[in-house]
Amino acid sequence: MRVFLSSLLCAAILGYRAGAVVIDDFSMTSQKFLSSGVPEGFTLDLNEERLVQFAEDDKPVWITEREKIRAKALGRKFFDITHTPWFKRPPTSLAPSLAYPAPDKQNLVNTVIANLTVDGMISNLQKFTSFRTRYYRSETGKESQKWLLNRISEITAEYASPSLTYLITLTEFTHPWGQNSIILKIKGASEAAAVENGTVVIGAHQDSANTIPFLPAPGADDDGSGTVTILETYRGLLASNYTPVQDVEFHWYSAEEGGLLGSQAVAQSYAQENVNIHSMVQFDMTAWVKRGTREEIGIVTDYVDADLTEFIRTLVNTYCGIPYVDTQCGYACSDHASWGKAGYRSAFGIESTFDNSDKNIHSTNDRMDISDEFSFDHMLEFSKLAVGYIIETAGWSKL
Ligand SMILES: [Zn+2]
Repeated sequence: MRVFLSSLLCAAILGYRAGAVVIDDFSMTSQKFLSSGVPEGFTLDLNEERLVQFAEDDKPVWITEREKIRAKALGRKFFDITHTPWFKRPPTSLAPSLAYPAPDKQNLVNTVIANLTVDGMISNLQKFTSFRTRYYRSETGKESQKWLLNRISEITAEYASPSLTYLITLTEFTHPWGQNSIILKIKGASEAAAVENGTVVIGAHQDSANTIPFLPAPGADDDGSGTVTILETYRGLLASNYTPVQDVEFHWYSAEEGGLLGSQAVAQSYAQENVNIHSMVQFDMTAWVKRGTREEIGIVTDYVDADLTEFIRTLVNTYCGIPYVDTQCGYACSDHASWGKAGYRSAFGIESTFDNSDKNIHSTNDRMDISDEFSFDHMLEFSKLAVGYIIETAGWSKL
């Protein structure tokens, strides 16, 4: 009730239009920022109408970019479906219903895990968080994407054997807003297995956003941590001369913070082209261990594939030095949701329970040096999990 009264008061003082979202106490400072125009270096029309869906059973609604930013600031999650109002689902024959076997490649997985270190994660994240913001509609967001693309190329050049280099392709999935998603593919040794069992996908989002998008957003945890976690997984696999049987892809999505825009575009494109995806696992926020809590890997249980999620739990037990804990994250929580919507199996691993996760996100305090609760050793546990997921599902072709 108190919240309700103060909200009414605030709304009355500011004369703010309630619009499509509830009346609230979104701060005066925030509103000032959003009413004072778009600064240089950003390509954003705050009055542009966007089609947004807030819940699975809700009808999509048209709201402005300004209202979208405000809704996000209030903690509401959504798909921005302006560019993807409908999804063509892949034929059911392409969405495999194979049971997940018990992990049985411990020797192979542990060889790669032994190669993983925090060194690259630290230096990569230092650079990645040095961009003022990685907002998907900003100049620095484009620059950070180009840096990441180049860093992946450098790692490939440094660690891939000549035979492996031949199997690797690095592409930009272009988006109209300027910051592109990045797709790294390691072609499987068996064309037949790749076609039959599908591509194994692991993802993170590369963009960051302050609650007020024009302000700095180092995005160390959200989702710089996931970005460099899967980059270290990739480096470790290359250093071990890993050759998958099925195709494997690493995705670094653009514009997760704008309403899962990048991952929806990628997932829709794959579905439209009938690409067989074995499964997709997302890592968004992998660094934070809240003081006084047990270090755990959060396994999200809502809006995910239950069988794949159970398989991920088994992988944590097999390959990680810490236990898992189940948690919920809500509708449209991260990029895995785009794959689920497209009819593919997806799962989501996060740093802790949702309650114990990093509360500095979407602010200038989302920094890697903010607290010793930001842990690279914790991130390394997710790199191990990713290595286990990839090798156990895509196999290892020892030619
Ligand atoms: Zn995120």
